[in-house]
Amino acid sequence: MGISENIRAIKTELSDKVTLVAVSKTKSNEDILEAYNTGHRIFGENKVQEMTQKWETLPKDIQWHMIGHVQRNKVKYMAPFVSLIHGVDSLRLLVEIDKQAQKCDRTIPCLLQIHIAEEETKFGLDSQELEALLVAPEFKALKNVAITGLMGMATFTDNEAQVRKEFKNLKAIFDATKKQLPALEVLSMGMSGDYQIAIEEGSNMVRIGSSIFGSRNYN
Ligand SMILES: *Cc1c(COP(=O)(O)O)cnc(C)c1O
Repeated sequence: MGISENIRAIKTELSDKVTLVAVSKTKSNEDILEAYNTGHRIFGENKVQEMTQKWETLPKDIQWHMIGHVQRNKVKYMAPFVSLIHGVDSLRLLVEIDKQAQKCDRTIPCLLQIHIAEEETKFGLDSQELEALLVAPEFKALKNVAITGLMGMATFTDNEAQVRKEFKNLKAIFDATKKQLPALEVLSMGMSGDYQIAIEEGSNMVRIGSSIFGSRNYN
């Protein structure tokens, strides 16, 4: 199957309540346009420079989501156009996003990334770090950042029970955090290999790359 068939099939399968982010990292403008021409508008990238180049050359009604780990010195390049930053995991990064958003006279929606996987390598806040962040004076002072949800990645494993447990944990953190931040709406969890489980556990935003565009050689 080609890209347009893949994306149509996945969108048919998803309910209206689940937003699809088509993860186009490493893929060409031609591949992205094939998905775009089915009517899809939300694309995810994990490198700021690559996303910025694609934003410059592709149709301006695409909503670009930054799904990767963000370095503070790169925020300024995407601040004018990024629709949603998924991987925010520090107050210092939030302060920088706030500053750059202010320069662009806009509010940038962000998700806080929560560490739910067993692997040491995955980024994200643990529960204690999340609690500390939510009560920090610098957090309360943010003006041009809107925290609209949480994001997480499960352990890369065939063990479905483990993946399910991690997604359940993130959903519980989401529900608890929403009591403090009523504006939380988005729960970004699930990729090609595990999005069905993620949706069963309460995800309303899935980030799907290889099941749409085919496998990647890198990243
Ligand atoms: C690459 C990536 C995805 C998509 O992965 P697939 O397995 O190709 O669907 C989702 N989320 C993040 C954060 C990624 O880096």
